[in-house]
Amino acid sequence: MIRAIAIVIIAAALWLLAVAVPAGEPEKPNAITLGSIGDAQRLIPMLASDSASGDISGWVFNGLVKYDKNINLVGDLAESFTASPDCRKVTFKLRKGVKWQDGQEFTAADVLFTYQKAIDPKVATPYSGDFERVEKITAPDPYTVQVVYKEPFAPGLASWGMGIIPKHLLDNTDLNTTEFNRKPIGTGPYRMKEWVTGQKIVLTANDTYFEGPPHVEEYIYRIIPDNATMFLELKAGGLDFMGLSPLQYQRQTDTAYFKQYFNKYRYPAFAYTYLGYNLLDPRFRDKRVRQAIAYAINRQSVIDGVLFGLGRPATQPVPPESWAYNPDVPKFEYNPEKARQLLAETGWKDTNNDGILDKDGKPFQFTILTNQGNDERRKTAEIIQQNLRKIGIQVEVRVLEWQAFLHQFIDKKKFEAIILGWSLGRDPDAYDIWHSSKTKEGEFNFVSYNNPEVDQLLLAGRNTCDQDQRKKIYNKIHALIAEDQPYTFLYYPDALPVLHKRFKGISPSPIGIWYNFPTDWYVPKNKAEWYR
Ligand code: ZN
Repeated sequence: MIRAIAIVIIAAALWLLAVAVPAGEPEKPNAITLGSIGDAQRLIPMLASDSASGDISGWVFNGLVKYDKNINLVGDLAESFTASPDCRKVTFKLRKGVKWQDGQEFTAADVLFTYQKAIDPKVATPYSGDFERVEKITAPDPYTVQVVYKEPFAPGLASWGMGIIPKHLLDNTDLNTTEFNRKPIGTGPYRMKEWVTGQKIVLTANDTYFEGPPHVEEYIYRIIPDNATMFLELKAGGLDFMGLSPLQYQRQTDTAYFKQYFNKYRYPAFAYTYLGYNLLDPRFRDKRVRQAIAYAINRQSVIDGVLFGLGRPATQPVPPESWAYNPDVPKFEYNPEKARQLLAETGWKDTNNDGILDKDGKPFQFTILTNQGNDERRKTAEIIQQNLRKIGIQVEVRVLEWQAFLHQFIDKKKFEAIILGWSLGRDPDAYDIWHSSKTKEGEFNFVSYNNPEVDQLLLAGRNTCDQDQRKKIYNKIHALIAEDQPYTFLYYPDALPVLHKRFKGISPSPIGIWYNFPTDWYVPKNKAEWYR
């Protein structure tokens, strides 16, 4: 996702990028056009759980807090905040004079309303977990919000990075179905101008934005379901920003032409890609089977052959940049022999000599689903297919359109295995992904992972403020999850954005390049400065 808000997002492709203007100048130099492989769905922030929806929603709405370029939490709609040392209480002082895009004033009543909706069981949000820990929330005056948690709650402050929604427009409406999801009105730097389903979303600069009107007048989000087509569009001047594939980054951008018009960037994405199993499927219930598959997958060949070295093998649900990363988790280095052994232990043997393992008269075959538009995932699936064929498991690969994949297959648990990614929040709390209670439709534990010890540690990790103590807890969680292999962790990708050179004011930082887009990016009026 583009904006660094404090929540996890299902990543379609980490890189939406684009820059342009080779064959002719941009039609609207002061607009930025981006490519996305998927359309957005619902833009109310607590419902915007995929990367496209999160990108758009992130410019229309503000949270109370956000991350700055050095990944510290700072005020956003909050002018300041204080958190008690035991992380049970947070007090926000809100900015005064902030206007909703319809002219009404933003106040503490909107914060309370957002909270009430986040915990409303009728609202299909995957983010309720953070807000259910609140014991009491009050607004002693229109510019102060006090939150008290039932017990110490470490991710409490960061959870207020979720976008605040307007009470006066949404009171007594069904958030799941309201038109507001397509015609949102926020406090953010951009407002909705036009949404043509499946084609484009156009945002326009909010000239009453509290940090000042953005310099870039329009933000145009084009839906282009295929990364190769997107790249052609980029080179033809139809896009200013996209996420390059590793192949494009390494092999197709080294031309004089490309270097004249575009800047490309590379940094570790705070993300991982995984093979997830439907743990309700009896074949995947025994962890030895999942461990066998982990041993059978040659991750290094994925890094070399698919990522062209622009990523690292993954072992656990956080990248090495996280303070909660555990270097000592079980790693399941490539070992097909060990894989065969484990499968034999669990009763999988090729009884009919056709090269495929059998059990109870049935061959071991399953389908991996992944999404369209992300070639790395499809190619990774094909490598896994070859790797597993070698140990006697037959895999089919099926590639699905992004929204269909999420809502018809993932949400409904209609899959055997999937290749998917998480773009993570900075706090290691991943209660929503791993806790056994988070398995309802639309929630994030769609593989149905259930380990009581992990459940208990997930709670302990959130209910502790001390970072050293939290580090121990999360290290243990990551070791248990690596041992259990509800996902086989595949790789930590690099983000590879590319941007047209006419945009200035970009300052890459540990959190990426987008954090200062509304305030600092601009296009010089004098065209002679564009390609410097
Ligand atoms: Zn067989």
